[in-house]
Amino acid sequence: MTEVRFNLQIDCEATQRSIANPGLGERAIRGLGELLAAEGARATFVVIPGDMAVHAALYRDLEQAGHEIGLHLHPAELGAGEFLGVCSLEEQVSLLSRAMDAFASGMGHAAACFTPGYFSANDYTFPALEAVGLRHGLVSCPTRNLPQCACVWGGSPLDLRYPHRYNRCLNGDVDFVDVPVTIDPDSRMWGGAHPQDLRVELVDAKNHYYTIEKAVRRQLAAGDKVPVPYLKAVTHNIFEYGDAHDFRRQTLVGILAGVRRVAAQEQVDLVMATTADIAAAYRARVPRPVGGQRLELDTRGRQNAAERR
Ligand SMILES: [Zn+2]
Repeated sequence: MTEVRFNLQIDCEATQRSIANPGLGERAIRGLGELLAAEGARATFVVIPGDMAVHAALYRDLEQAGHEIGLHLHPAELGAGEFLGVCSLEEQVSLLSRAMDAFASGMGHAAACFTPGYFSANDYTFPALEAVGLRHGLVSCPTRNLPQCACVWGGSPLDLRYPHRYNRCLNGDVDFVDVPVTIDPDSRMWGGAHPQDLRVELVDAKNHYYTIEKAVRRQLAAGDKVPVPYLKAVTHNIFEYGDAHDFRRQTLVGILAGVRRVAAQEQVDLVMATTADIAAAYRARVPRPVGGQRLELDTRGRQNAAERR
């Protein structure tokens, strides 16, 4: 039976200056840990250095329980500008190295998983991630176009990929598996700049159900072109996930029920996975192209025009 993997990612940034509520962050991750254990789900927590500094013991416990802990970066928290996507290659490598040192001192090992704040990136980002030894993560949000956040993804791929070395929106040979967040490219928000994505706090569970169903059907219909079908939901550790009456917690429970319902309906095996699990499955099935991909000019239109003459 075909497998569809499901991952929830929690961006952990309760110590960010605009939030500055580590108590809320702790309640959120403890609540999520309990909820995910009850649901039999595994998640990926990506953590900014400030949160790691105050909650490292909790993250080591979550790792012991089978969750993945990765690195999240908001450059302003390290004294740089707000957005990674306006930084040079050297600046990005430097920021990432500092954040990775903070991660390693909290977790006792190097980070492998990464997500930038605001999905902000430029063409130097993937080579920078490769240079510091990061292996996989959620970097692209396909079709999200927010130049004011240095986040422009245009028509980048919806599926797992090795990114191009010189163009972040194309596939190539960078030794990093990009795991895009699940989106519905046809449902636009924020004046068309943002797709409806599987961000728990964006809409309610019924709304998310349609994104889940559509994403699974699209991937299954693509057959071998999508060798590792998956769903990736995201949220933040700034909601009261420990409170059974909290709307975001209820939405997450609804998303998990929706994912199970779609899996049964489409007759696929649902596998609860970390981002590392999804990236490993992709690496096992898809060899990294040596030298990257060539981009050929599509000349079919010219031929048709010639035939019509
Ligand atoms: Zn963030």
